[in-house]
Amino acid sequence: MIINRIRRKLYKLTHPVEGEIWMLHRVAEERSEAKEQRELEVTPEWLEAEINAYRQKGYRFVSLDELPCRGPWVVITFDDGYRDNYTLAYPLLKRLGVPFTIYITTALIDNQMEAWWYPGRSLGMSREELSALAAEPLCTLGAHTVSHVKLDTLSREEQRTEIEQSKTQLEAIIGREVKHFSFPHGAHNQDTLDICHSLGFITSVKSWGGSLRRGEWSNPLPRIDKQQP
Ligand SMILES: [Zn+2]
Repeated sequence: MIINRIRRKLYKLTHPVEGEIWMLHRVAEERSEAKEQRELEVTPEWLEAEINAYRQKGYRFVSLDELPCRGPWVVITFDDGYRDNYTLAYPLLKRLGVPFTIYITTALIDNQMEAWWYPGRSLGMSREELSALAAEPLCTLGAHTVSHVKLDTLSREEQRTEIEQSKTQLEAIIGREVKHFSFPHGAHNQDTLDICHSLGFITSVKSWGGSLRRGEWSNPLPRIDKQQP
């Protein structure tokens, strides 16, 4: 027990924190009552205060394409592709000069599919909004499957279809290469990693794992589930 604790302490000393990749979902003026929705939502005011607090601590906000770079840094990411990322997060982050990544579940574009965790709501971004974001230097667009499926429940062939189609569908809309991928629910296995590699993705991210420490630069990258209290 003591040996393990010392080993862990030694590891932390020799592998200092380099940065944090934040996982966010929705930005909303008013958060939902239901816990499972509420924990996916942050207000613009809270996000701005959090960014300012990190800047005061000496963190730089960088884009995924700048990694690996000298820390301490923060990369802001949003999963799924909600319309409020365009209407609320984008103007805020633009004003603050903060780069951000949005991972798009392509069936949510133009609400072809409903996000079943928000029944009866049409929260997906439109093609036009996506194209506008593609022209914004602060914004990086990544893929997040077609149908938001748990990839580790699929066969290798089915996984390949989900991952590859989300990449090509998104590329067709934004007119540029998509190089970053996020696993829905963080779920993945070795097939997922092999497929992402063979399709040319530079990074992939999971939904947990905390800070990124020195020497931990490998896919999938860890993220911090950034929740407003
Ligand atoms: Zn997701």
